[in-house]
Amino acid sequence: MEQQNNEPTGREHPQSRVTMLEGEIEELLACQRTMDARLFNFQSILRASRALYDCREMDDLLVLLKAIVDDRFDTDGLWFFIFDRESSSFQLRLRCDGPCRSEEQLVASRDPFSFSLGPGILWQLLRQGEPFSVVDLAGRSRFAGLFASKGLDRLASVLWLPFVMEGEPVGLLAMGPQHSGRDYDAQDLEFLRTVGEQASVAIGSVFLYDRLQHEQSKLDLTIRNLSVLYDISRAVSEIDNMKQLLLEILDKAIARVRAQKGSIMLYDSGIDQLKLQVVRGLPDKLVEDRINEGQRSCRTFRPGEGIAGKVFQTGETYISHDTQHDDNYAHSENSRVSSIICLPLLVNDKPIGVLNITNKQESHFENDDIEILSAIANQAAMTIEKADLYRLAITDELTGLYVRRFFYRRLTEELRRRQRYGLDFAVMMLDIDHFKSFNDTWGHDVGDLVLKEVAACFQRMTRTVDIVARHGGEEFTVLMPETSLEGAMRAAERLRSATEEMSVEHEDNSLKVTVSIGVASATDAIEKAEDLLHLADVALYQAKDQGRNRAIAWRQGMALPG
Ligand code: GH3
Ligand code: MG
Ligand code: MG
Repeated sequence: MEQQNNEPTGREHPQSRVTMLEGEIEELLACQRTMDARLFNFQSILRASRALYDCREMDDLLVLLKAIVDDRFDTDGLWFFIFDRESSSFQLRLRCDGPCRSEEQLVASRDPFSFSLGPGILWQLLRQGEPFSVVDLAGRSRFAGLFASKGLDRLASVLWLPFVMEGEPVGLLAMGPQHSGRDYDAQDLEFLRTVGEQASVAIGSVFLYDRLQHEQSKLDLTIRNLSVLYDISRAVSEIDNMKQLLLEILDKAIARVRAQKGSIMLYDSGIDQLKLQVVRGLPDKLVEDRINEGQRSCRTFRPGEGIAGKVFQTGETYISHDTQHDDNYAHSENSRVSSIICLPLLVNDKPIGVLNITNKQESHFENDDIEILSAIANQAAMTIEKADLYRLAITDELTGLYVRRFFYRRLTEELRRRQRYGLDFAVMMLDIDHFKSFNDTWGHDVGDLVLKEVAACFQRMTRTVDIVARHGGEEFTVLMPETSLEGAMRAAERLRSATEEMSVEHEDNSLKVTVSIGVASATDAIEKAEDLLHLADVALYQAKDQGRNRAIAWRQGMALPG
């Protein structure tokens, strides 16, 4: 059919018919070329966009984008900017200043060049996400004043391709003129528009991925830090041995920042020196144990001396990545410290000691380490302060025994434990016989000396689980957990005879002391601490009444006179 339609009608001159055909063929070929070019564009963009979406790193993505642009153009200069939301500015990330096809020209930008824009026409254009020319037809800059003020004139760009996600700019490609001198035509712009759309989505996903990773690692870090702090606070409430607690804190600190060693030093105002309290990570475990048990002394530091002394004096954290070349580090022969972070232990902003963590393994101490170690140092300082205040609050100044208030608290706890678990326990009340005569004969100071020595004797003669307290004056109480009345009577007899056997040396005199003791064990009828102490007191009265220097257990029917 077509053949027939195309047949000459005879009315036309054959020569003009040929010319017409040639014209049509030419047109068809041109069309074909356009189609081919578009198909090629489409295919290359499709290929490129797949690769773009696989990029997780901004720099990889930009290198790939550059390759896509290079594939089609031979530009003099390409400058990739990424939009930083925080500072609301475009930051130069990748640039190639001259002819771009050679890879060497490409440099990850160490140049901190950035620019921000107010709400003007350029900003509007950037938000539209379409490629646009920044020069007029004569090649003069359309934004000469603005470019000069922002330093953008040095780029010599002619075409800008903004990257936009959900109406917000995420980046920008500023392109120089083509090396061949050819202008960018409508097809080029279409190509760039499509590349721009793909690139915008890819840049947006890298942003999201980055943010997600950042949030994730922040979350990981927070969780790791919180769990360390949680472990420590649990240890603080569970361990009432201060050394043990400090060791626990130190262990956590060393493990958390992957260091090798650590120590805690506390300031002793008596000698104006920082003294080592606990240490971890020494090559010789025996030495470490002996130091931690207080059986081996270590080097002390004056405030201001060495790194520890400086940190104590200034109250500021100090890091040394290389102690060998650090003048502040107080070198000692067998110290194997290469890097150190030293943090002050602050109570109400006042240093009470320092936390040293040394030899970070595989890398340097960094900001994250400072953050968690500061939190740990705070915990340690609080623990030390609490323990110190607590010790002061619960011990009697003269004898070093527990005070009455603490004894009542422990006794109340023991009563509760008995109600819950049925565990037996007993108490003793002790009173020094004729104590007044020591004061009267030798003076109050000797009376004090007798009190101290008797207290020390009670401490020696009781178990560590027993609570020995000064009830007041020359009266004492002892709480004996998990002890029957018989057991308590044996213990009381031990105390009585030990007191009788000891003597208090004063000048040339050996003063002899005796005590009377009342013993009572908890029963179901006892509900309050004072009720049980009352029974022990009644028994003590009986002991006094029966001639002193004896231990008597409370029995049913026993009562105070009157
Ligand atoms: P008894 O055998 O009946 O217990 O006689 P006592 O002299 O021990 O008993 P008393 O209660 O009459 O005397 C206790 C004395 O202890 C009276 C008080 O001045 C003295 N005293 C109380 N507290 C202290 C103290 O802290 N230091 C000194 N040196 N004496 C104290
Ligand atoms: Mg008394
Ligand atoms: Mg007395």
